[in-house]
Amino acid sequence: MFAGHFGLAAIVRSKEKTVPLWVLMLSTQLLDVVFIPLLLLGIETIQPIGNKGYGEQIIHAEYTHSLVGALVIAGVAGFFAKRKWGQKGGLLVAAMVFSHWILDLLVHRMDMPILPGNLGNLPLLGIGLWQYQTVSILIEGLLVLAGIILYFTSVMKRADHANRSRAILSGIVMSILLGLSLIISIMGW
Ligand SMILES: [Zn+2]
Repeated sequence: MFAGHFGLAAIVRSKEKTVPLWVLMLSTQLLDVVFIPLLLLGIETIQPIGNKGYGEQIIHAEYTHSLVGALVIAGVAGFFAKRKWGQKGGLLVAAMVFSHWILDLLVHRMDMPILPGNLGNLPLLGIGLWQYQTVSILIEGLLVLAGIILYFTSVMKRADHANRSRAILSGIVMSILLGLSLIISIMGW
């Protein structure tokens, strides 16, 4: 899941202005952002399966995508966000960071541990919708579509006559970014 997280950020931004859009977008992807250095270090890994296409992978992200690990990352991000955007902003960022884990849980194939490093070998979690590509692409597509529509209408609503063209431009840029992220997602992120 890649585009779906961005879609959710756009949906939330259309309703809630406490923190900037880029912060919401970064927050929803933060677990994957932390995952990248660990991937490069070989601490967390991706194991392709099948045709190595969309969702055809087992992701051994046993720290960043463990339930407790995600809660810790969300807590740390929320702590820093609170200092800049107050209590509400802190809670919002923490919730957005943790939303990544929830959305990933829908699609991952039982590879998400409860404790970091899969301590205690507890059962791995993941509903595994990636096994049903049409369903998971549909969910991701709907998040992106809802993000585009809600974001577009919210920027248009807030714009007065003078900055209408700026609002249209930002709506278009956002739609293109979300559309591209969906393509990247489907191509096998
Ligand atoms: Zn992830």
